[in-house]
Amino acid sequence: MKAILDHVGIAVTNLDEALALYRDALGLHVEVPEEVASQRVRTHFIPTGQSALELLEPTSEDSVIAQYVEKRGPGLHHITLRVDDIRAALEQLKARGVRLVDEQPRPGAEGALVAFIHPASAHGVLVELKQAAAPAVRLDPRTMAFGDLQLTTLHDGPFRLDGGAMFGVVPRPLWEKKAPPDDRHRIQLAMRPLLVDASWGRMLIDCGVGEKMNAKDRDIYALDRSRTLDDALAAIKLSSESIEIALASHLHWDHFGGATERVGKALKPRFPKAEYIIRSAEWEDATHPHERNRASYLQDDFVPLKDAGVVVFFEGDQEIRPGVRVVRTGGHTGQHQIVFIESGGRTAVFVADMIPTAAHLENAWVMGYDLFPMDTLAFKRRFIREAIDREYLIFFEHDPLIAAGVIREKDGRRYVEQVL
Ligand SMILES: [Zn+2]
Repeated sequence: MKAILDHVGIAVTNLDEALALYRDALGLHVEVPEEVASQRVRTHFIPTGQSALELLEPTSEDSVIAQYVEKRGPGLHHITLRVDDIRAALEQLKARGVRLVDEQPRPGAEGALVAFIHPASAHGVLVELKQAAAPAVRLDPRTMAFGDLQLTTLHDGPFRLDGGAMFGVVPRPLWEKKAPPDDRHRIQLAMRPLLVDASWGRMLIDCGVGEKMNAKDRDIYALDRSRTLDDALAAIKLSSESIEIALASHLHWDHFGGATERVGKALKPRFPKAEYIIRSAEWEDATHPHERNRASYLQDDFVPLKDAGVVVFFEGDQEIRPGVRVVRTGGHTGQHQIVFIESGGRTAVFVADMIPTAAHLENAWVMGYDLFPMDTLAFKRRFIREAIDREYLIFFEHDPLIAAGVIREKDGRRYVEQVL
């Protein structure tokens, strides 16, 4: 079992005196207090690096904290250890005869699960175990009519990437509130290919990651294959055979790894009836990687497509099918492109890695992965203004919760009004 010190709870009788020490004398930041009505206590968190101090102030005389203070005076009340799997932790403790206050976990603040170990079994210390709420990731396919088209946001399972790399030069205290990192510093992401159903055929924009990744990389990226693109397609009564066109935003593994699959020892196109539409210059870059992008361009993801004769190359920005237009952004990769979908007077845009999640709306929130971040910045600055003014429907490929929405701006602050 791995446990991280989450916080130390300190019972106080006089909050002002406590603040005079922690806030004024030590100069620590004290968060706004939270009232826990059921315990008749007010909590004041003080972040201290990976862990925090929690000042516990009773709000009534019959509060457990008031009783504790009356008996033993103010001071250390409990320590809290964060574990990945609280049920497994409790089982392990029970098996060793440790006395527990809670045999089963119960709900704590912010969706966490908590349970206490009895001080009699912990050398006089009240120990709380806590399993933080997993940031939810929405994986259900969602469909909407869009002019003459039908748009369905699919998924190819959740994964995680390094939070620092996802937010580039933005300091962690700013991004970690929007995208809380796990104990390996990774944030929750989704992979959402977009299905366009039109009179001219069925197009998939990006293909997810597929099944080829080895166990070590699956672990590094927390790749969860319990629900995949096949499940998403099955949920809308389609299969790999249903896809007629596969269009790539760019050829990184988390976007086009799902274009091929392993059949025995051979690598085959994953969608047997599809043509694969790829920008020639992106193909050139992907097949001539350098040290900086080699880990992103995995040759098995796309070379077998050319071998099978199913790739259609094109050059320059253009309409790929009626209502579907690609525009090169550069930035993330030299030839990274986004896809404009226009029908019935409305515009939707699949923005791929230019704006990977709804947390990346500020111009300077550009990924550390980008090869040419200043190009991303320049394109994004112009694009987001246009998207706000014209109320584009934006499809976020990596956002764990918001598949699509409209970017709004109020008092200089940008946010997404979720649609799907
Ligand atoms: Zn990506």
